[in-house]
Amino acid sequence: MSPVSSSSEPKFDAKFRVGVLGATGTVGQRLVQLLADHPWFELTEVAASERSSGKKYSEAVNWHLESPIPSAAANLIVKGLDPTLDCDFVFSALDSSVAGPAEEEFARAGYPVVSNSKNHRMSPDVPLLIPEVNAAHLDAIPVQQKNRGYGSGFIVTNPNCSTAGLVLVLKPLADAFGLEKMFVVTMQAVSGAGYPGVPSLDILGNVVPFISGEEEKMEAEPQKLLGRWDGSRFVEAGLGISAHCNRVPVENGHLECLSISLKKIATLREVREALRNFTVSDELAALPTAVKNPVVVLEEENRPQPRRDVNAGNGMAAVVGRVRECPLLDVKLTLLSHNLLRGAAGAALLNAELLASRGFLTRSRIAASDLAAVPVTQAAE
Ligand code: NAP
Repeated sequence: MSPVSSSSEPKFDAKFRVGVLGATGTVGQRLVQLLADHPWFELTEVAASERSSGKKYSEAVNWHLESPIPSAAANLIVKGLDPTLDCDFVFSALDSSVAGPAEEEFARAGYPVVSNSKNHRMSPDVPLLIPEVNAAHLDAIPVQQKNRGYGSGFIVTNPNCSTAGLVLVLKPLADAFGLEKMFVVTMQAVSGAGYPGVPSLDILGNVVPFISGEEEKMEAEPQKLLGRWDGSRFVEAGLGISAHCNRVPVENGHLECLSISLKKIATLREVREALRNFTVSDELAALPTAVKNPVVVLEEENRPQPRRDVNAGNGMAAVVGRVRECPLLDVKLTLLSHNLLRGAAGAALLNAELLASRGFLTRSRIAASDLAAVPVTQAAE
């Protein structure tokens, strides 16, 4: 099913049918919530572990969002990870212990997989995507399909939750001034650890200065996101990055203190203007989950704050404050982004919307095992 309109706002002849793998988890629930009234997508399948499969979604899930379980989801029967779901593509919000092979199996069976998990993010032929930052990386999809012998399936990922907000802020600065190196310290919400997450006795009235694997992800993923696809491989941005990651007793929203060294000298006013003027293209603005200005700059000296600012731009904006001179590097600032929306479910939804508008989602799946029946030129396109 490809767009039937050539204007910047695509129109489809019917909604795409969507499955959510890991639908019972923290990110999966957000996806189920966001899909409830989606103009392009309709939730038809939910899948999770053996603990949940066979039950009605409303019975399997420990729902902990404010709004009730969407009625279209409540009565769906939770399936296992068998790639025979009745849908056109899947979101994956699976635990990383199972996401790697499960996502590959779905892609091999012909499903586009829009993943939140870390497993394939740094693979050399898998786009790690933030539409406002590196939409051109989608050009890697046909190469991935060819390399892996996939039919119509493929895998696209979104970054780690703390990387998502960071790179959204870095992008306009990279474009305007170039980036040399940065130092970032995070204060990350407990919902970033899934449910039940960090034990309450560890986090109440406390800060835990360690999140397994997080600093490595924050130091690696921006290199790919801010790098380029050269037609056969991703060329990394080559930035110097040092990250410290901390878990703090906040429900939602990762706060980050960032110091940056720029390639070109810039005044603080120019830095603020570059951030404020960061506007998405008409193509992206037409996506239902996109916001026209994905970076919001606040002037108050004590903002951004998670409780007050986490829902800026429906949770899809990065909020910046305290832009000031850095005595060690050039500029320092504080940024905030919603870890479950901009950093996970909303990010995946936006990625899927871009895939839909560019014609990467179809109704006719071709599994790798069917490829023998398809002329080679067609299969590799
Ligand atoms: P979570 O709350 O622990 O949920 C994990 C999901 O995976 C559940 O639906 C669970 O199903 C399913 N699952 C676990 N083991 C399984 C198995 N053996 N077979 C099939 N399904 C299985 O985790 P989360 O926070 O939603 O995170 C999901 C993924 O997104 C992770 O890879 C995480 O790293 C990534 N992510 C999370 C965030 C965040 O802010 N939380 C941000 C970015 C990315 P059951 O309920 O049936 O056990």
